[in-house]
Amino acid sequence: MASNNINIRRDVKDPYYRYKMPRLLGKIEGKGNGIKTVLPNIVDVARALSRPPDYPTKYFGIELGAQVKVEEKNEKYIVNGAHDVAKLQDLLDGFIDRFVLCASCKSPETDLVIHAKDQSIIRQCMACGQRTDVDLRHRLATYIVKNPPPKTKKGGQHASAAPGQDDGADGDHGSGGEVDLLARDASKLDIAGGATNGRNIDDDGDDDDEGWDVELDMSAEAIAARQKALSGGFVLGGADNDDDDENNSGGDDPYDQLGDFIKDNRDAPDSKIYAKATELHLAKKHRALIVVILCLFENSTTVAKDIAKHDKLLLSFGNSDKHQRAVIGGFERLIEARQDSLLPKTPAIFKALFDEEIVEEEAFLEWAKKPSKKYVDKDVAKLIHKAAQPFVQWLAEAEEESDSDEE
Ligand SMILES: [Zn+2]
Repeated sequence: MASNNINIRRDVKDPYYRYKMPRLLGKIEGKGNGIKTVLPNIVDVARALSRPPDYPTKYFGIELGAQVKVEEKNEKYIVNGAHDVAKLQDLLDGFIDRFVLCASCKSPETDLVIHAKDQSIIRQCMACGQRTDVDLRHRLATYIVKNPPPKTKKGGQHASAAPGQDDGADGDHGSGGEVDLLARDASKLDIAGGATNGRNIDDDGDDDDEGWDVELDMSAEAIAARQKALSGGFVLGGADNDDDDENNSGGDDPYDQLGDFIKDNRDAPDSKIYAKATELHLAKKHRALIVVILCLFENSTTVAKDIAKHDKLLLSFGNSDKHQRAVIGGFERLIEARQDSLLPKTPAIFKALFDEEIVEEEAFLEWAKKPSKKYVDKDVAKLIHKAAQPFVQWLAEAEEESDSDEE
């Protein structure tokens, strides 16, 4: 199911870019004057973009000078005439650019806020906090003002590999309006403040809401991390970078450089990889582990075995709680990227990490408490937790046994 997902920003080629949407489908039906193009998965595509499905449909109609037909109840979205799906996909890029992406940082995590007074539309960015105007000259803008996004709708879950996994949690989504947004931001700042005072409670910003707009950490660090992620580079995840000196933007991100080095030097021994990391001042960075894991474990069939081969490298970055959590996170990301082949291997992968003493029992049990969207989509996190269950159970039982041995 995941394999047919494409990057929301198609100009970003990074396969690990986290914002995905299903590839658009089109089906031509009818004949002659009645010929039409049905959009069978526009609902899923629109959900990934956190927009109502009639917006892109209407957009196609406007761009193509064609009538559209929307039957929300039956989930029927139709553009009159025969249209090539590749062409529609290209048009969708324009829709995304104009009505989804933050004009400032290009994040797709935006809400449309409509100001009824002056009929203006703003993209409120959840990644960088900027509000950028939608170009009202496009005719879709008029349509949006007349048909504002629903105030509350089902969690606008995005990018997740498994549409239909909606667990029914409803985010306070949509055009919450000025007041809502401000209140929401304030509560986020509270959370962020708490997190900086406490130690290492970085997983807790993580409630059970779905959707990208409800639980985002708006701390400066988190925003910086997300912006960096959007550059097309590695999405390193986590807002816990108190060892953070990495707000450098631009193409020469040391993490990207490390990733490129590993990809370009497939035969490099681990010592060379670590030397490169040291050269890039990443020798003790827990986030470097994410890059190493994503780039190094390219063979899905041998991941668990390969962990034993690279144990020293993985340990050389450090083994604090944070490092161990990053290792788990890195493998979560790897599993997310290749769910079909790796999800069933989750217990074996985790067992290997445990056997090689890269991740200790405590770190696994801490991780097992609750699926977290720290490194992967919440939906994927849930899948991984489910898949890891046999391992976690084994671990818990082993612990009980050793406890009773000690008595
Ligand atoms: Zn932004």
